[in-house]
Amino acid sequence: MLKKNILIYGATGSIGSSVLNLIRNNREQFNVVGVTCNSNIDKLLDIANEFECHKLGINNKTKVQSYSEIKNYNVHVGLDEFSKLIDNKVDIIIFAIAGSSSLSLLMDVIVSGKIIGIANKECIVCLGKTLLDLANKSSTEIVPLDSEHNALFQLMKNKNKESIRKYTITASGGSFLNFKKNEMENITPNQAISHPKWKMGKKISVDSSTLMNKGLEIIEACILFNISSNKIDAIVHPESIIHGIIEFNDRSSHAFLSQPNMEIAISSILFENNIVDLKDHELDLIKLKSFNFFEIDNTKFNAIKLAKFSLNEGGLMPAVLNYSNELMVESFLNKAISFNEITTNNEKIMKKFLIDGCNVQTPGITDLNNAFSIINSYIKPNNSIIDQFNR
Ligand code: NDP
Ligand code: MG
Repeated sequence: MLKKNILIYGATGSIGSSVLNLIRNNREQFNVVGVTCNSNIDKLLDIANEFECHKLGINNKTKVQSYSEIKNYNVHVGLDEFSKLIDNKVDIIIFAIAGSSSLSLLMDVIVSGKIIGIANKECIVCLGKTLLDLANKSSTEIVPLDSEHNALFQLMKNKNKESIRKYTITASGGSFLNFKKNEMENITPNQAISHPKWKMGKKISVDSSTLMNKGLEIIEACILFNISSNKIDAIVHPESIIHGIIEFNDRSSHAFLSQPNMEIAISSILFENNIVDLKDHELDLIKLKSFNFFEIDNTKFNAIKLAKFSLNEGGLMPAVLNYSNELMVESFLNKAISFNEITTNNEKIMKKFLIDGCNVQTPGITDLNNAFSIINSYIKPNNSIIDQFNR
């Protein structure tokens, strides 16, 4: 059997580890031909060693200088050099770098004509339509790896989109589902980065606990599947076994069920036709006994409302929400703002951006970078937001 050559952007992260674990258990089918990290060079070298991979990408230019052993590898330093890891031999690219700072890289990767598994939702939210158009023109095949979108993607295969009337994605509800609003004020970063169902990176774990992850996922789904915001909703499903549901016009629904483990979604890009035997992730419905579903409490968590508002305003607004949220999560993790301020500040920034007349309806990358500078200028040194009516 011809081995598939896999390039993994963000190999040292949580998604990267799941990809590598699937490859580890099926070594005869894959070569790892490129791996990247931000600054976790020790882990990157361990991965390179284990998978006999000679091409590396390291973003942290300062740290890289203290590693003499990297001279044994072909190393590309700095995010803007990472696209050089793509060559004729690469079959599948996994894009699992966290955050929107990798947007320019993704724009280069998306025109490669390869098969790309995208886990990074921030880039899709920021400039998804442009990315999809570029992919289309270059015959690049995109496979969504975010579990809910992968579920919808698999459910929609060979289905007539016209017959689908509604899309539903599920939310575990995060760690603070039953907290009262005033109890949420004192949530610490350590509490917010531990997730009840999924083991993930810090940023997405905080997003899960504010439900902004679900808000971003609604935007991501609308862009990826070209659907309007009134056709999709999120519901709380604490067991996290059903990930996505499509309802047809005849009111029948198809749901995608699996253990909450990213290896299942990722396996859909590595192996064809669900053929791989992932026996460690067996789903035992008799043991599970029952599933619960709840409506999202939008008064406690306003992330979905903000996400839909951004979609309805269109243009730069989803990117504004995403960028503001990245900054606020970072400030929260650095203990500069409280948990509740993440979402209240996101709302303030979006409103101010609109009132200032800064939205652009069909944005390109320059408009996006301008928007990011404008948002940076809204944040005072003490981490409070400039009042929208007080310029
Ligand atoms: P992690 O924080 O665990 O990993 C992020 C990866 O990206 C690491 O390899 C990190 O390197 C690298 N990285 C971070 N910043 C930069 C940068 N500026 N330049 C270059 N490399 C960088 O995140 P996750 O794996 O949890 O998530 C990755 C993406 O996938 C996110 O966009 C997230 O929203 C999405 N996602 C994740 C899911 C999950 O279950 N984890 C589920 C669905 C989507 P280093 O290790 O050196 O810091
Ligand atoms: Mg998800």
